[in-house]
Amino acid sequence: MEDDDLKILRERLQARRAELMAQGDIGVDPNRPSAVEHADEDEQPLNEMNQVIASKRNRMRVEELRKIEAALERMAADPEEFGLCLDCDEPIPLRRLELMPWATLCVPCQSKRSGPRRDGRRRHLRDFDDF
Ligand SMILES: [Zn+2]
Repeated sequence: MEDDDLKILRERLQARRAELMAQGDIGVDPNRPSAVEHADEDEQPLNEMNQVIASKRNRMRVEELRKIEAALERMAADPEEFGLCLDCDEPIPLRRLELMPWATLCVPCQSKRSGPRRDGRRRHLRDFDDF
């Protein structure tokens, strides 16, 4: 990949990583830190629901951070190979990388790997992947 393109993608990854890190652990309810102490029977279900939502957000954030770290490592280890599809060795289009700098497959290979699963729903997923 061209140095200029690499630089843009690296900056994009680093900026996104900083943004995710700055969020810290997503609390259940930052406006009411003592909510747990004062929780009575009625509030319990709501608190549990908030915790589920917060932990799901955290998981997604951790997953994105993991992909960003992996992309930065690949970029540092082998800048010339960065942006080539792992399956077909063709360059992944830059517009796809600009949206998903951690992508390791081009759209056709990504679709092939995902496979035609459970008919009807597949189309929607492919639309989402097809940047
Ligand atoms: Zn490919």
